[in-house]
Amino acid sequence: MSLKAMVFIDGSWLYKSRTVLFMKLGEDNFEIDYSRLPRILCDELANAIDEDISIVRTMYFGTIPSARSGFNTAKQRSFYDFLEKTCRYDTDIHEVDIGGDNRGDEQWISMSLASALLFYAAMPCAYDVALLVSDDSVYAPALRRARELGRRIQFVTLHAPDGSVPFQTSSLVWKNRVSDFAPIYLDDHAEAMRLVREVRRRTCKQCGREEDTTWAGLDFFCSDCRGRHRSN
Ligand SMILES: [Zn+2]
Repeated sequence: MSLKAMVFIDGSWLYKSRTVLFMKLGEDNFEIDYSRLPRILCDELANAIDEDISIVRTMYFGTIPSARSGFNTAKQRSFYDFLEKTCRYDTDIHEVDIGGDNRGDEQWISMSLASALLFYAAMPCAYDVALLVSDDSVYAPALRRARELGRRIQFVTLHAPDGSVPFQTSSLVWKNRVSDFAPIYLDDHAEAMRLVREVRRRTCKQCGREEDTTWAGLDFFCSDCRGRHRSN
């Protein structure tokens, strides 16, 4: 029987990690293939332990500026919508006030992620193994408790710029009893994580016009309709 896995993504950590991934491929920027990411990570674990893994859920934790902030959050909202509808993630997004102390964002994310990880760990059949897409020692207490409940933990990290293990003391690599497996290094998978966009002809949901696009999301709107929407 295959192991049941849940993937917990710390959106803030993953966002900050992108630069290391770009560097690895010698690029300034590329898009991450979010729909493949959970499978890439679970496949590496499955190979390492020689067991089948089935993904029961991927949860993504992030923040968005509050309505009061005056920021245009349309792009961020459509990204989270894409994660939900196209990638089938469960997203947990907190509204935060922008400006001042940004540390609050990360606390929201880590507290919600740790709560969910422990909540499902305590449910009898929710998961056998949790994959944490973050390397922050703030998670150590929750990971230890989840392991005491009989769950197995895999965490994901990044190599230091010289290719060695991460040297920051805030890394989980240096903590005891937080993991059951060797860490997965996200930068080892930079190439597989890169989104390769295919140009396809799609029909606008609003006006029915056809247009070439690389947009892979569920609903497609042509450039005219998108422009009108923005100017409203
Ligand atoms: Zn249209």
